[in-house]
Amino acid sequence: TQMLAGIPLSRLTDFATCEAARYAAARPRTKAALDGAEPAWLDGVPMHWMRDWPMPFPLLVAQAKGARLTDLDGHKLDDFCLGDTGSMFGHSTAPVARAIRAQAGNGLTYMLPTETALRAGEALSATFGDFRWQIATTATDANRFALRVARAVTGRPKVLVFNGCYHGTVQDAMVMRQDGQTAPRPGLVGQVSDLTRLAACAEFNDLASVETLLQTGEIAAVLTEPVMTNSCMVLPQPGFHDGLRDLCTRYGALLIIDETHTISSGYGGYTRTYGLNPDIFVVGKCVAGGMPTAVWGLRPDLAERYAAYNATRPAGHSGMGTTLSANPMQFACLLATLTEVMTPAAYAHMEDGAARLAAGLSAAITRHNAPWHVVRVGARVEFICAPGPLLNGIEAAQAHIHPVESAVHTGLLNRGCLIAPFHNMMLVSPATSRAQIDRLIRAFTSVLSELFA
Ligand code: PMP
Repeated sequence: TQMLAGIPLSRLTDFATCEAARYAAARPRTKAALDGAEPAWLDGVPMHWMRDWPMPFPLLVAQAKGARLTDLDGHKLDDFCLGDTGSMFGHSTAPVARAIRAQAGNGLTYMLPTETALRAGEALSATFGDFRWQIATTATDANRFALRVARAVTGRPKVLVFNGCYHGTVQDAMVMRQDGQTAPRPGLVGQVSDLTRLAACAEFNDLASVETLLQTGEIAAVLTEPVMTNSCMVLPQPGFHDGLRDLCTRYGALLIIDETHTISSGYGGYTRTYGLNPDIFVVGKCVAGGMPTAVWGLRPDLAERYAAYNATRPAGHSGMGTTLSANPMQFACLLATLTEVMTPAAYAHMEDGAARLAAGLSAAITRHNAPWHVVRVGARVEFICAPGPLLNGIEAAQAHIHPVESAVHTGLLNRGCLIAPFHNMMLVSPATSRAQIDRLIRAFTSVLSELFA
């Protein structure tokens, strides 16, 4: 019999069919609302990737609070997706909701800073370290602007990224590694420029592949997550980050650490928790509690180099900006999150819960003899439908088994648990209770017992 991730294909197909039907049957109101709406959105959804969730039709959210969503049909769901990190500290936390209410009647965008902005800057340095900060609206933009500065001060053209990475819709990073060479990724809509002139792709955990590319002298910056989180999760091997830092210094490239997902690692992100030393630090998504906000910061010595560059730059557009960024609502939410939400105590709760979740999922995998494994980075837990640990993007790509993941996701949803759609990721927030974690472990165990009976 044909097997997929250790499951007989026929059993997987039966399970998937049954779970899809169960999802649909439980959501008559949602279905009617979707069917009754004018075809106003392209493909029926406001963001095209909302079609990429595995369910037969999208979920419509009616309410969200803490770590719970209620859908239009009244199903209460334990939310372990948490907006794929945007709501990692829970939906509408009290301090952020308060900050929004306080700012709501006082203007939403001015193109001028506030006193709160000054305090938010200080809170950023207190939380993440000594950087000179700028704000953006999305982590995508923060990465793009960081890359501009890196190219400006080094005068070099390329960014080095790792095979299997994702840093938002940053065009330059959309490359892969094929037979040891950098290649453009297939599937990019309307991509007409040659990305291999802007980027070079190395393999995570492979310092030799990094050094070979740095030796060309073309690399302005290495852009990486501390842990690869956007394929199946790949942890850095001991010494990898130290080696990366040394190589960047030796070859005059800047090190940009994108903490947008690894902010789950602990207070101050992976950088503070594990003592990394980036030249540029980037974080977005949850940093202002879900209010569209990202920040990027330069080390003081790099800020000086950038100032020297700026002194000689001809007048004209910088290529960094966006009008609605740096607005007072962002700063109010950023300050509230940094000082009242993203606290060491909150992380302690998240860490405990995530450890419990990872242990429960691992136990279920062992009990069912599934050739799967579990990885955890602080509050972030992932089950991977292949043996592990994974070493790099090649292995991560092979471990991503779409039909199995879709079926499991829908099965979990039918058992009251929502996990992140494009990988098997679960986040534990400060609002997530032990009962919710145990319910997810039971749901996962129940799904495995059907798949591996
Ligand atoms: N960096 C990383 C590591 C990400 O995973 C993502 C999005 N998943 C981004 C940046 C981009 O974030 P956004 O979509 O909010 O711009």
